[in-house]
Amino acid sequence: MDPWALSEPWWPAAVIADLTGSWRGGASLYAQVAEDLGTPGAARSPGDAGAVAPAFRLAGLDFYPVPRAVRDSGRRWSAYSPLDYWRDPVTASPIRALDGVTIACQHTVERVLLRDGRAAGVRVVRAGETDPVDIRADAVVLAAGTIENSRLVLRSRVNGGTERRRLSGLSDHIVQGFTLTLPAGAVDPAAALPTGHFVAPGDDEHRSNLFLSIGELAAGSVRIEVSTMGEQLPNERSFVEHRSAPDGTTSVHVGAALAEADEALVTEQQRRLGDLWRSLGPRYGTPATPLVFGGLGTWRPLSGDLVTYASALGTVNHEGCTIRLGDGLTERHEVVDLPGLYVLGPATFPRLGAANPSLTTLALSRRLAGILAGPPWEGIGIA
Ligand SMILES: Cc1cc2nc3c(=O)[nH]c(=O)nc-3n(C[C@H](O)[C@H](O)[C@H](O)COP(=O)(O)OP(=O)(O)OC[C@H]3O[C@@H](n4cnc5c(N)ncnc54)[C@H](O)[C@@H]3O)c2cc1C
Repeated sequence: MDPWALSEPWWPAAVIADLTGSWRGGASLYAQVAEDLGTPGAARSPGDAGAVAPAFRLAGLDFYPVPRAVRDSGRRWSAYSPLDYWRDPVTASPIRALDGVTIACQHTVERVLLRDGRAAGVRVVRAGETDPVDIRADAVVLAAGTIENSRLVLRSRVNGGTERRRLSGLSDHIVQGFTLTLPAGAVDPAAALPTGHFVAPGDDEHRSNLFLSIGELAAGSVRIEVSTMGEQLPNERSFVEHRSAPDGTTSVHVGAALAEADEALVTEQQRRLGDLWRSLGPRYGTPATPLVFGGLGTWRPLSGDLVTYASALGTVNHEGCTIRLGDGLTERHEVVDLPGLYVLGPATFPRLGAANPSLTTLALSRRLAGILAGPPWEGIGIA
């Protein structure tokens, strides 16, 4: 999470301190998770570039290697999974026994069960079957992605008798960029930038990180991908809504709209992409064609194989911010009006920032696990 976004009054002070300072007297949650991933460098956010020298400067911006949580084992790599606690991520051989843990694969949670206004379990349906099964629990943790987490919270509220059917503030990353491939032999190696993935970090004014990837393709051609990923701020016109029809069926609806501050961000992103495009020209002999963008959710072919694009909003990149820590959620990750129901994932971010969300998602999961496993007064700030 970019330091300019992980800040009060958006994020609760106690959560910021646990993520970046110290968790229960030990290393910060970010540092612990990065250590678990085997990539301590991943604890750096793009805005926290002080420890690493820029790889190059272009269009007035410093570009740094992108921090990545990739574990390499020779020619193979493995993505992180919580299951790594029990089995080797590469060979899949067991590391420890699943004592007291049952994993119910292929079960879809239909809804949260309530008893006396408290979460008391979940109703699930196994794939290929129609009869639901109830699983009873003292604490229920939703980790089903932003839209589904939102649906389950809204449905619980409806079942609990409240009329609050909408969670506003749904936020996604605002992503625009351009791509092109230059034929083999067209690039002067003396003028070319290094190959790899680089980022120019944003700040609280621009709220966007600018990514530049340069790769050599098999036949000697060069692929250039430039994208900027910016923060959509939570607003009332972006939401997840639960609707019930007269026949008893229910459906989930998503609305996505830019706030005024975000419109300015979109324009500034395009200006900076244009600057970068022009500064690539002398190095790569690219045409002087001006970059033109369509609306959100469109790709636009320009000359040669130069293409610009702007992602759609709502459910595309890194949607979050519907059940926010310190707002709809307590600092213990518990839904304010549904005790016993806890939520994880980007849905719980008070604001999204511009950086990719997963390190923060993992760190917050570790925080909630500690809170649920330990005495209730541990791991929380005193409000
Ligand atoms: C193409 C793509 C690339 C991305 N790249 C990056 C990246 O480079 N870096 C980054 O930080 N983020 C990236 N993201 C975003 C990241 O994947 C999400 O933010 C993250 O997965 C959200 O984590 P989560 O645990 O909240 O939910 P998820 O990872 O979506 O996990 C939810 C799980 O719950 C299950 N589930 C859903 N509904 C139910 C239900 N009713 N009952 C039972 N189970 C259910 C799902 O099957 C799934 O296994 C990317 C996303 C996409 C789509």
